[in-house]
Amino acid sequence: MAEDFEVYAIKFAQRDASVRGEHFYGHDPCAMEACPISYYVWLAVSDNHSVLVDAGYTPETAARRGNRDYLQSPMDTIRALGVDPDRIDHLVISHLHYDHTGHVSDFPQAEIVLQESEMAFWTSRHAGREQLAHFVEPSDVAYLVEQNFAGRVRMVDGVHEVVPGVTAHRVGGHTPGLQVVQVRTAAGRVVLAADAAHFYENVEREKPYGVVTYLPTMYDAFDALRALSDRPELIVPGHDPLVLQRFPAVPGLEGLAIRIA
Ligand SMILES: [Zn+2]
Repeated sequence: MAEDFEVYAIKFAQRDASVRGEHFYGHDPCAMEACPISYYVWLAVSDNHSVLVDAGYTPETAARRGNRDYLQSPMDTIRALGVDPDRIDHLVISHLHYDHTGHVSDFPQAEIVLQESEMAFWTSRHAGREQLAHFVEPSDVAYLVEQNFAGRVRMVDGVHEVVPGVTAHRVGGHTPGLQVVQVRTAAGRVVLAADAAHFYENVEREKPYGVVTYLPTMYDAFDALRALSDRPELIVPGHDPLVLQRFPAVPGLEGLAIRIA
């Protein structure tokens, strides 16, 4: 029987100077309303495994892209939670946008889990198009290509058991090979949505995000989040500042880490 995991969301940055029109699909009637965005990685820990979902971005990338408040490296918060980054055995990358790939090289021991269709897209003829290229750091993609040659990337297709109790599920919609992660916990099955729902509003009110590869697939992804979680409150969006209000802070790490279950 699969063991239960404890799950944490680690916030490492935020961007407050942001409006709804940047984030919601179509012509939002409140396009100029403020819409702050937070940046997270997620950690699932059991007696036998430490699984990190996504790798954030570095302070250097934050400075170059500008307009972002970098709070604390997720590496430091992982250590503060009592987990040695060298002991993380699996690193699941939801998709290859820059805000999810920055620290991959800081986990040299981990098996990297990535959907094959995501890697295929970012090494395809379309990767360099103006409206797509700015979402990725080419050096991060190149690093993953190298690591694949080194045998360290588990390229998966659809559903994949990362370890007993943790599964990855390709949903697409936002990027071609976007995957979400289901984690078994004592509170029920949690779904780490990453960018299948940037905000609670995306999934709770079925308001699609503005960066879309195929809109019907994004709606299918909302259905998948509901099907993969035991309760709606166990769906954890990827960029919503409200996550810090809906779950309790880890004592001593207020504003940086919350415990989901
Ligand atoms: Zn993102």
